[in-house]
Amino acid sequence: MLVLRTLADLHAACADLRRGAEPLALVPTMGALHQGHRALVRAAMASGAATVASIFVNPRQFAADEDLTRYPRDEAADLEALRAEGCALVWLPDMTTMYPHDEATTITVTGPAQHWEGAVRPGHFRGVATVCAKLFGQVRPDRAYFGEKDWQQVQVVKRMVADLLLPLRIVGIETVREADGLAMSSRNRFLSAEQRTQAPMLIAALRDVAARLAAGETTPAPLADAHAALQRQGFAVDYLALVDGETLSPLDSATPGARLIAAARLGTVRLLDNIAAA
Ligand code: AMP
Repeated sequence: MLVLRTLADLHAACADLRRGAEPLALVPTMGALHQGHRALVRAAMASGAATVASIFVNPRQFAADEDLTRYPRDEAADLEALRAEGCALVWLPDMTTMYPHDEATTITVTGPAQHWEGAVRPGHFRGVATVCAKLFGQVRPDRAYFGEKDWQQVQVVKRMVADLLLPLRIVGIETVREADGLAMSSRNRFLSAEQRTQAPMLIAALRDVAARLAAGETTPAPLADAHAALQRQGFAVDYLALVDGETLSPLDSATPGARLIAAARLGTVRLLDNIAAA
């Protein structure tokens, strides 16, 4: 497995991989890898692609009051995990490679980026879209793998790729969960023992809403009940909504492709989850 830190090395290695006639897949990550990330690499590998994983903790997608400095970093363990999955190459750009001092371009996606995470975390998707566009330009993959755990992010990146006519396909991979249903996340390690026992209530609440919608109920009652139940259990709910799976616009009933999305905080740890609503 190649571990590369300069653009010159990356371009040479990607050219070699491309000559191997396999498609090239990119798995963008911020490190602190867990089984969710590994599932993306595994899916890319299983598709027959030569797989490049990137690790870059992107400061531009954190707001000033967010947890950039305490974001977990463990490069040695990450490289070991990627090696075990058969990754061909790991791309570890530094800040000046990603953000040269004279750069003057950022990417703003509207549409699916406007609500929910986009509203709670202003600038977040600008940071995500810009770093993804740069990674796509650096690696030039045929496809890139993203986790459905960050459902809105997948839709935002798909929209950007379509709008900018970028020559790659975005593949979404199902959320990997702990045995009790909690979506795996690099931030789960910050949950206290008590919060860890509460955390699966988020997915339980979403599943409860999905069941009520499947039984023919319409919003807002199931959403309001789930919201109240989470609050009673100690969550600060940022949003819990029924949305169109592509545009992220709010819906009243679970039409095909609808998604239930939620973000809620337990203490300082912010949990994100979503499931199909229909
Ligand atoms: P991150 O390092 O948190 O930016 O995540 C890198 C990629 O891994 C993103 O595409 C995430 O959506 C994806 N990911 C994170 N957690 C999970 C999970 N539990 N299941 C599947 N994919 C995930």
